[in-house]
Amino acid sequence: MKNYKYDAIVIGSGPNGLAAGICLTRAGLSVLIVEANATIGGGARSAELTLPGFVHDPYSAIHPLAICSPFMSALPLEKYGLEFIQPPASLAHPFDDGTAVVLKESIRETIETVGGADGENYRKLIAPLAERWDALAPEILAPLHFPRNPFLFGKFALKALRSARGFAESHFEGSRARAAFAGLAAHSMIPLDRAGSAGYGLVLAITAHRAAGWGFPRGGAQKIADALAAHFQSLGGEIQINTRVENVDELPPAKAILFDLTPRQILQIAGHQLPAGYKSRLEKFRYGAGAFKLDWALREPIPWRATGCDLAGTVHLGGTLDEIADSESKAWRGEISKTPFVLVAQQSLFDDTRAPAGKHTGWAYCHVPHGSTVDMTQIIENQIERFAPGFRNCILERSVLSPLDLQRRNQNNIGGDINGGAGILSQIYTRPVVSLNPYKIPAKGLYICSSSTPPGGGVHGMCGFHAAEAVLRDEFGRKF
Ligand SMILES: Cc1cc2nc3c(=O)[nH]c(=O)nc-3n(C[C@H](O)[C@H](O)[C@H](O)COP(=O)(O)OP(=O)(O)OC[C@H]3O[C@@H](n4cnc5c(N)ncnc54)[C@H](O)[C@@H]3O)c2cc1C
Repeated sequence: MKNYKYDAIVIGSGPNGLAAGICLTRAGLSVLIVEANATIGGGARSAELTLPGFVHDPYSAIHPLAICSPFMSALPLEKYGLEFIQPPASLAHPFDDGTAVVLKESIRETIETVGGADGENYRKLIAPLAERWDALAPEILAPLHFPRNPFLFGKFALKALRSARGFAESHFEGSRARAAFAGLAAHSMIPLDRAGSAGYGLVLAITAHRAAGWGFPRGGAQKIADALAAHFQSLGGEIQINTRVENVDELPPAKAILFDLTPRQILQIAGHQLPAGYKSRLEKFRYGAGAFKLDWALREPIPWRATGCDLAGTVHLGGTLDEIADSESKAWRGEISKTPFVLVAQQSLFDDTRAPAGKHTGWAYCHVPHGSTVDMTQIIENQIERFAPGFRNCILERSVLSPLDLQRRNQNNIGGDINGGAGILSQIYTRPVVSLNPYKIPAKGLYICSSSTPPGGGVHGMCGFHAAEAVLRDEFGRKF
């Protein structure tokens, strides 16, 4: 009988690594998490990137999926200092005419900003799904399985499988609702004429109408990682930082090893243990477009032209469906858009811990070709000026992170891909390979628990949760 130092080791302390660690320690196992960086959290971290006293989120900022995650929402994370702030509106999508569609928890108030027949069309589409989110979430945020609520899931899937463009054009008559839906679907980082892109738009629209909606942690995204880590450690888990794993054989003996990493790193670290067929399938895994990220220290709030933008934690800039679709297609094809879809977050408007009194932070990124080296700073700031004239005068300092900077800071962000692989239909529920148990690597004791597994990118911990479920079942004969 082999002598193991740990029951399980998790490589990487992103939200999914921490989630897996929590599930395994909760089951009574001894678990070590090793992290390459000096700070834990992967895509859920905060730092003073610009000036003293300004707390920025270099990566994730807005956390509807953490709030709505069946796994994370059930954890006692408030006990470890996690408090979500919900701004009066989840999202604003401004237009050149100085108006905006504003998504609030109340669908009635939201559709007043959509206008015309589309307000009612929006209500009919989204309200029934939002009301059933608690039943829908475990079906959507999971690997392929026979749904417990086949009728409800089928109703969602028939819509979700469509392209965002096809969905928006067939359900909405006017440009406002079509544009707002395009912005939601553009989080997919895939072209909006691809099948499955509507699903991203639907999930984000639904979560905007739930209590807490598109909230974010008081004090910064790091608070999520810190609360998960504190909970994990309270259960007996250990975390070792500053430890980059280069070869899986160098780890202490453990019955299970879970990679909170993407396929390319797994090939580097554990390739010698993998069967040739699986290796070649991992080599074919497709990474997506990159992100170009900016953070600003601001002397005052962003001076939005449209009413309602000052109520929202997130603002989507890109104008019409055609413009957004064009910019997303360009990023996918390897071209630069001069008017990209820009996602802006303005947490300091609602969280006074983010900046010195009277000052503010700004967070934004746009999608660019995988591995792009083009500086998008001016292009992003031009898009903000378009909807908020005078924005540049508010800037005290900025931090710039190119796709390759993102990868240098976290090796999972390959070529600036922030979702652990492209979210195309063939890689949503079948990532990293087609398998009924996508978390199991066909080598003794090896598993993958990162966003390169279902249900994919975002801070929700569901990949880690399902991977831990597989480990407990396959290695320890336990039912979850
Ligand atoms: C710019 C940006 C904006 C985003 N915005 C949002 C948002 O607003 N909302 C949202 O929900 N999601 C957002 N995301 C996505 C979200 O952050 C990720 O989907 C999520 O963090 C994935 O979690 P993970 O645990 O799978 O991996 P990660 O969070 O990437 O964590 C992986 C960890 O593994 C470590 N690691 C890598 N290689 C090694 C190694 N060899 N040895 C040891 N450790 C290693 C890394 O340092 C990292 O800590 C954003 C991401 C980025 C980059």
